[in-house]
Amino acid sequence: MKILRFSTPDLPPRFGWLHEDRVGQLDGDPFNAYRRLDPDLQVDSVTLLPPVQPSKILCVGRNFEAHAREMDNPVDEIPLLFLKPPSSLTAPGSPIVLPPQSRQVQHEAELAVVIGKQGRWIHPDAAMDHVFGYTIANDVTARDLQHTDRLFTRAKGFDTFCPLGPWIETDYDPSDALITCHVGDELRQMASTRDMIFTVPQLIVFASSIMTLMPGDLILTGTPAGVGDLTPGVSVSITIEGLGTLTNPVLSEDEMRPTN
Ligand code: MG
Repeated sequence: MKILRFSTPDLPPRFGWLHEDRVGQLDGDPFNAYRRLDPDLQVDSVTLLPPVQPSKILCVGRNFEAHAREMDNPVDEIPLLFLKPPSSLTAPGSPIVLPPQSRQVQHEAELAVVIGKQGRWIHPDAAMDHVFGYTIANDVTARDLQHTDRLFTRAKGFDTFCPLGPWIETDYDPSDALITCHVGDELRQMASTRDMIFTVPQLIVFASSIMTLMPGDLILTGTPAGVGDLTPGVSVSITIEGLGTLTNPVLSEDEMRPTN
């Protein structure tokens, strides 16, 4: 099933579900008990929102060998974890805003795992029981700031640096799915999730050995090779087989500020 969040002029933000090209509301909590209401809205007529509101966004660096190499980094023996703030989330179709502090902002196409059940020290055999579903994320990165700062917080943490969506697929096998990323018509990234160094269950086990995973939390599983620059006016589209396409325009912060 495809779960999303949306609003309309008449309906404040809420969870919904997608049936073909129609959206129905969810009555209840998608992580507990809920009821699907009739899909009575055209998906084109609603505003899609990031499909989940996580308490934290965990990310894995260098989880594809070819990307580690293009960054001149070794392959890590344990996952390299960092966090993006929930305030970095942005909706499908909403702009990625290039901040004035950076001259090199890049896309990173990633499979995102949505946690469905709270857990700490999750056993490998139980890891997949803690998954609610999967969606698409863009781990937008100010590459120049990542190189100058010792920590990733600034480079990865700007508002709009985590496009997410368009929806969560709850019935999905993440073990061999093709990830592609286009900027305009140009193919930038293409790889299968089977090339991940650390698998989804391994990442859940590792992350939960550090912190309690909560329903709605995200794990961004790392980007393939081919990361590249985003410039004002382009559009970036990430497609993951079976999950759909996440598209966001790119603007400079100047274009977002009110003029007077
Ligand atoms: Mg990344």
